[in-house]
Amino acid sequence: MKVFLSGAALGFTGKLLYRGYDAAHPDESSSLSFSSSSVSSSPGSEGSWLPSVSCYKSIENSLQFTFKPAEVFSARFQPYTLGEVIPITHDVALFRFLLPNPNDEFNLKPCSTLQACYKHGVQAMDQCYRFYTPVTANHTKGYFDIIVKRKNSGLMTTHLFGMHIGDKLLFRNVAFKIQYRPNKWEHIGMIAGGTGFTPMLQIIRHALTEPLEPGTVDKTRLSFLYCNRTENHILLKGLFDRLAKDYPKRFKLFFTVDRAVNEKEWKKQPNTYLGYVTEQMIKDTMPAPNTKNSVIMLCGPDHLLHHVAGTPMHTMSAMSGGLNIQPGAPDLNNLVQLGGVLAALGYQDEQIYRF
Ligand SMILES: Cc1cc2nc3c(=O)[nH]c(=O)nc-3n(C[C@H](O)[C@H](O)[C@H](O)COP(=O)(O)OP(=O)(O)OC[C@H]3O[C@@H](n4cnc5c(N)ncnc54)[C@H](O)[C@@H]3O)c2cc1C
Repeated sequence: MKVFLSGAALGFTGKLLYRGYDAAHPDESSSLSFSSSSVSSSPGSEGSWLPSVSCYKSIENSLQFTFKPAEVFSARFQPYTLGEVIPITHDVALFRFLLPNPNDEFNLKPCSTLQACYKHGVQAMDQCYRFYTPVTANHTKGYFDIIVKRKNSGLMTTHLFGMHIGDKLLFRNVAFKIQYRPNKWEHIGMIAGGTGFTPMLQIIRHALTEPLEPGTVDKTRLSFLYCNRTENHILLKGLFDRLAKDYPKRFKLFFTVDRAVNEKEWKKQPNTYLGYVTEQMIKDTMPAPNTKNSVIMLCGPDHLLHHVAGTPMHTMSAMSGGLNIQPGAPDLNNLVQLGGVLAALGYQDEQIYRF
């Protein structure tokens, strides 16, 4: 099964979802304003004892309720309703959760993520916490999507894949220690495997498409090496391809696959590699070790992090591995001394960030 899920496909499902959403939130009018037309104000009329229009206007203005969109995520857990599930492969699916109101805007600062929580037993401690970085563009109204890979006997993913439309799951917002700001780095390299693409998409989309303060020009260059099992396992390829096409000067996109289903065709495509990440791939695609003001961000499964950065095997799986609480990856990962292909090429610990 092909798993290219393009932006267009996501837009289409968005429309489908909205029908469901409107039905769930009928006629939620959130505008409250005072009408001055009901106030008699003409001098000499029966109502002339009333204050002048301008006085009413000022009272009206001072009482005007401006409806600031409520915080749709906070540091406290809140329930969100599952609106739709879109299978992508046999073990990966997109889960669409509804924001409290259809006009609420999804907004997460890069780099931050959501933490999901559900209670799986009767004891107070039987609560499972797991991180998921949404793939939704900021300012999207009414919903957010997470793409999740199912794990064999995984606590959270077994629960998620068993949820029904209309069920609720708790989420809260958690900020990473690393923040993206325009021109903070000249060049950001990114290497991710499988569902590890999610924090990279957040940064890439924010850097390329988010409106900037007047007078600011973001010149940050981004290079993304996306690693997958085969070309049919590449998630959101259509979306990444489009961003690379739309922003050719700032965003360079590369793929490597462990094995190509159609090797001849794969090799014909630009910026594609075969096999695990090599020194040559990093030389070709990432900011060089001596590049000032650069960083390489990593996110992926154990074997990729071990191979690329020398992270001890099982660090990622040990981060949850059936435990209720999952520590933040940066807390564990970034304490480990750099190794692997990156260390062999002369990169230093402080040039690498592991999500
Ligand atoms: C910052 C961050 C962002 C993330 N974003 C995403 C994302 O967008 N999408 C995504 O899919 N994932 C993401 N993850 C990974 C995600 O948080 C979970 O780790 C993943 O979904 C597995 O959770 P689980 O509860 O289903 O599996 P777990 O219960 O944690 O199990 C994980 C593995 O350990 C094995 N295991 C279970 N119990 C035991 C045991 N007792 N002893 C040994 N092994 C055991 C299971 O078989 C399974 O293979 C992210 C992780 C981080 C840190």
